[in-house]
Amino acid sequence: MNNSTNARVLVIGAGLAGSEAAMYLARNGVRVVLVEGKTLKLNPAQKIPNFAELVCTNSLKSLDPNSAHGLLKAEMKSMGSFIIESAQKHAVPAGDALAVDRELFSAEVTRSLSSHPNIQVVELEANDPMKLKAQFNCDFVIVATGPLTTKSLEDWILKEISGDDFYFYDAIAPVVDADSLDLSKMYFKDRHKDIEAGGDYLNSPMTKEEYYAFVEELSNAEKVAPKDFEDWKFFESCLPIDLMAERGKDTARFSCMKPIGLEPDINGKWPYAVVQLRKENLLGSAYNLVGFQTRLTYKEQVRVFRMIPGFAEASFIHLGSCHRNSFLNARKLLDNDLKTKKFPELYFAGQITGVEGYTESASIGLYVAFQILRRIKGLEAISFPVETAIGALVNYIMTIEKPCPSNINFGLLPSVELTKEQRKQDRKKVKKELVSKRAQDVFQSFYSALV
Ligand SMILES: Cc1cc2nc3c(=O)[nH]c(=O)nc-3n(C[C@H](O)[C@H](O)[C@H](O)COP(=O)(O)OP(=O)(O)OC[C@H]3O[C@@H](n4cnc5c(N)ncnc54)[C@H](O)[C@@H]3O)c2cc1C
Repeated sequence: MNNSTNARVLVIGAGLAGSEAAMYLARNGVRVVLVEGKTLKLNPAQKIPNFAELVCTNSLKSLDPNSAHGLLKAEMKSMGSFIIESAQKHAVPAGDALAVDRELFSAEVTRSLSSHPNIQVVELEANDPMKLKAQFNCDFVIVATGPLTTKSLEDWILKEISGDDFYFYDAIAPVVDADSLDLSKMYFKDRHKDIEAGGDYLNSPMTKEEYYAFVEELSNAEKVAPKDFEDWKFFESCLPIDLMAERGKDTARFSCMKPIGLEPDINGKWPYAVVQLRKENLLGSAYNLVGFQTRLTYKEQVRVFRMIPGFAEASFIHLGSCHRNSFLNARKLLDNDLKTKKFPELYFAGQITGVEGYTESASIGLYVAFQILRRIKGLEAISFPVETAIGALVNYIMTIEKPCPSNINFGLLPSVELTKEQRKQDRKKVKKELVSKRAQDVFQSFYSALV
């Protein structure tokens, strides 16, 4: 391998993650070959030939340090994030959020990368990263080709890296904040276990009337239509809950809402159907609605899911969705520094690793570039503490059993115990402040010890 001054890294994809990774390495004296295919052919979501295109909203979400998104940005800034720096140069007024003029932002990213003396930009659709690595005489390669990775590269990934552990559609179930639930209407019980034994699953039982009213609303609610380039094909074992409702009014009751093994309920009654909630983190501050992946619009999800007993005041950490998205089973295929187990010089970064969102993808580009730079310097890979936002994101993709892309949210960070006094205050607010403060302190001492 080359030493740090003449090491070369091939970055495939100049989106949010690839642009971030390329600039981090270049600014640290590493020579980068940046390969991007969109200048030859735009994909159906892209409109401009520039790098780091924001294909939908122009918002990179909150800057508030007491929000999970704000924490993530603060950590990225400490690491010298080029994406956040460019976004702040072209910010437009958006309250607490970092929203940008998307054209100026992408133009800035393109100009800065293309004019950097350590970066060579190559217009090319990559289809074999290891061959390209050899062709460009690089030591490492980062694949950061995003949710709409081109077909030829997907074929290579399937054949060489992932086999069945590569996914093309995303069906995400909503996650609800535990503090917003009325637990008096729910009960803990695992299937086929005694209610006295408690359980990991939180169940919300429905009467016959409640169930049919719920299914009717699911069927009638407004849904998001697939985009022109999407052709949703769902696994029979992972159907959206609203599609089940359309198939028949009893379908969900014989699938994820079946009450089998959960009777009797908290009142000693036999529920007609049950919504099961699974903990998103060890302390149970957030719950996933099991089997509730959905095509409903966000507004309709809030309206319809608040019909579930105990959900009248529910606050959702994130809502469900279905969309085209190529992503790996990181836990099976990658090491903690996101290099592949099969080819130790090949890394993945960005949304393709199983995170979701502009900022999250950029942060994973930064994380991978940071790990590669350490390696070039002869240092070991290092895990970020799970109490930090970046550490929590990486921990999530590396531990989730059934991969399901996620934005950064407080449910991914370990929760905190509140004192008696704190419990009397606005618990949600206090918890967020404590988790944020801890994240900032942990990141500061972790990162300052390294640089
Ligand atoms: C329709 C749609 C709407 C979205 N809406 C939002 C939203 O509102 N908010 C949000 O935060 N996120 C949204 N996302 C997700 C967001 O786009 C991603 O999180 C983010 O762009 C991922 O960053 P990335 O760097 O991993 O991939 P990308 O930003 O997609 O970058 C990948 C780059 O790789 C290039 N590429 C692909 N294949 C090849 C190849 N074979 N050879 C060379 N180059 C290649 C692409 O042209 C692209 O430039 C949306 C995604 C889609 C598809």
